Amino acid sequence: MSLAELASHPAALPSSQEETSASEAGEARAPSAYAPPLPRFVQIEPVGQCNLRCQMCAIQFRRDGPPHGPLAFLAFDDFKRLVEGFGDIDELQLQGLGEPTMHPQFFEMVAWASARGIRVSTNSNLTLWSERRARQCVESGLSTLHVSLDAATPVLYERIRRGAHFPKVIRNLRRVMSARRACGSALHVRVVTVLMRQNLDELPAIVRLVSAEGVRDMFVQYLCHDFEEHSLPDEYRPMRDFIHAQTLDAIPREALAAAFEAARTEAARCDVNLRLPTLERRAKDASAPRCDWPWRGAYVSYRGDAMPCCMVGTPDRINFGNMLEQGVLHVWDGAAYRRFREQLADDEPSPICRSCSLYRGTF
Ligand code: SF4
Ligand code: SF4
Repeated sequence: MSLAELASHPAALPSSQEETSASEAGEARAPSAYAPPLPRFVQIEPVGQCNLRCQMCAIQFRRDGPPHGPLAFLAFDDFKRLVEGFGDIDELQLQGLGEPTMHPQFFEMVAWASARGIRVSTNSNLTLWSERRARQCVESGLSTLHVSLDAATPVLYERIRRGAHFPKVIRNLRRVMSARRACGSALHVRVVTVLMRQNLDELPAIVRLVSAEGVRDMFVQYLCHDFEEHSLPDEYRPMRDFIHAQTLDAIPREALAAAFEAARTEAARCDVNLRLPTLERRAKDASAPRCDWPWRGAYVSYRGDAMPCCMVGTPDRINFGNMLEQGVLHVWDGAAYRRFREQLADDEPSPICRSCSLYRGTF
């Protein structure tokens, strides 16, 4: 892709307001195709640890947080510094790898960002919630809560989400929905399901469960990355075997189509707005990169490491520098980030992108 073509891609176009936020940061810069304006969408990890060890999650191989080390929490002041460093953010996803509500100031972070007019969303496994936390959630100003739910039966759910207790999660979902009703809150609750071989047949039952709990929105996605890049640190290699065993790539298209149709029928009957992943590989748009994440969004780990997107998950696979130590703009404009964007735009992406479902058009 040429620079001119890339510049016509919406994610690469600077706006005057965005240029202001950069200059407010005190550094003269001219946004370019590979050093675009600071993004309006930012994802920040409040924590780098989790109470679960889900089968499809790289966190099981990491050493951040107990029992391996100290609490893996982003300090509130560092959180504010990051948000302020980005300038004008429209949307903040306050979650990454880890359960965000483990952070004792999580809802304070939400309230602080919401009070600045930022739309804040998060994901939770809902295992650690109480009535008080459900109330805090609706009072914090959180805009969207994504609830991870990949099965409708305890045995399968607890096999996938190791360490979780299915009845507790459903009880906590009820707490959230009930607090939401009691406060007349506009909190958007959406269930997110990671679809694998093992839960494909349960998809219509998950739709029924979601509807029965009063949730009207459900997002289904495939496993998003196959961890095939040659640079993968050794400790994550077991992820490849799991993904080979559970990916739906090898399932006949007709079988997948039938499962999706059954889920769609159930969703229509139960009044659930259901998003299913694509059955066909999406064609490449010749005028845009296959993925615009590194232009339109930033992902920052709880330690401040900048990663290209949420698909990477752990900074030891790839990162562009530390935004807490080097500054947001310095890293965003840095040589490593630019080189990554250039490769992505030129259809010669980093190996980590080649193994990503977004890049392959199958997300
Ligand atoms: S709940 Fe989320 S962060 Fe925690 S292990 Fe599961 S997938 Fe990973
Ligand atoms: S292609 Fe995938 S891995 Fe690469 S930047 Fe986009 S979302 Fe991230």
